[in-house]
Amino acid sequence: MGRGLKGLVKKGLGEMGFTAGGGVINWFPGHMAAATHAIRQRLKVSDLVIEVRDSRIPLSSANADLQPQLLSKRRVIALNKKDLANPNIMHKWASYFDSCKQDCILVNSHSKSSVQKLLELVELKLKEVMSREPTLLVMVVGVPNVGKSALINSIHQIALSRYPAPDKLKRATVGPLPGVTQDIAGYKIAHQPSIYVLDTPGVLVPSIPDIETGLKLALAGSVKDSVVGEERIAQYLLAVLNLRGTPLSWKHWNNRKMDGIRYKPEDKQSYNLKELRQKRRKQPDFSDLIYVEDMVTEVQCALYRTLTEFDGNVEEESDLEHLIEDQFGALQKAMKIPHKAGEARLMVSKKLLTLFRTGKLGPFILDDVPQ
Ligand code: GDP
Repeated sequence: MGRGLKGLVKKGLGEMGFTAGGGVINWFPGHMAAATHAIRQRLKVSDLVIEVRDSRIPLSSANADLQPQLLSKRRVIALNKKDLANPNIMHKWASYFDSCKQDCILVNSHSKSSVQKLLELVELKLKEVMSREPTLLVMVVGVPNVGKSALINSIHQIALSRYPAPDKLKRATVGPLPGVTQDIAGYKIAHQPSIYVLDTPGVLVPSIPDIETGLKLALAGSVKDSVVGEERIAQYLLAVLNLRGTPLSWKHWNNRKMDGIRYKPEDKQSYNLKELRQKRRKQPDFSDLIYVEDMVTEVQCALYRTLTEFDGNVEEESDLEHLIEDQFGALQKAMKIPHKAGEARLMVSKKLLTLFRTGKLGPFILDDVPQ
């Protein structure tokens, strides 16, 4: 981590109320801690666990407390949202888990074929050792927002296409009394042995050993924005982008803008406004698409310009802070947020975070691969 980033990250420490020297922050409601006990019980009776993590933070999206129990189980790590992560670095992460002898697979939960590959790995892992068991259970766990529900939803669709007739799943060990059989809900994905994926995922409490991990989790959406504050998350994002020189790779868009070329939506990846504003029902029309495209270009140009014109040292905390201040101003213009808007900075932060989280600023990985 650069000195500038360290300083900025440190500054957040007091304001965000982290306990001295790191430690777990009281960011999560009590019921989540209570759920941990139930998860442990379910894990005991599961034959394999799919631990879902966010590809952009393969280490920071793990729950440290549960790792010993997860390590002792047959486990597949699903690095989800692979479509939002940089593929070259993702391969390094895959090699890293490989070197740790940990099964891991890159997944996009919205893609049936990608989820199918995950299920093939799960079946392989189970069948090679447990072909004589009549029924096998698979449990999905992960911290909030990594895509557990989306994954289980896709698994449900695949299960329906494989075994259209519902098949009751019974398992004695899950019942409150030993030996008493209980129906539990799961989706059948294989026969002989029957393999079921439990329909309810285990929601794990994120582990936040230090402030930067907290900021990464917030950026990936695993910690509520209101807990950290959108402005601080956006400031962290800008610091990381500048330190990595990412805006310099947006020169291309800057040049096109200078040339006065207004590119068509199909020039870049297909943009889906539904994804960007998920609650909205109306189908996007062409002018909406142009608007999002324009905003992405404007934002990229603003960040490119401010970074190239900057004559300080991004590694220095105060210089980096100045640069980020300038960028907030440039972004406000780029996003056409009126100068007098009382909460302009907050509006800039929210829009920037939405663009980042929906992959519009390009694929990204926040965690560094351990050496
Ligand atoms: P959960 O809290 O772990 O159950 O997460 P959800 O399944 O509710 O997903 C959180 C958000 O991430 C939703 O907006 C999903 O649409 C989105 N999401 C889930 N999986 C993927 C994926 O593979 N790629 C992308 N781009 N988004 C995903």
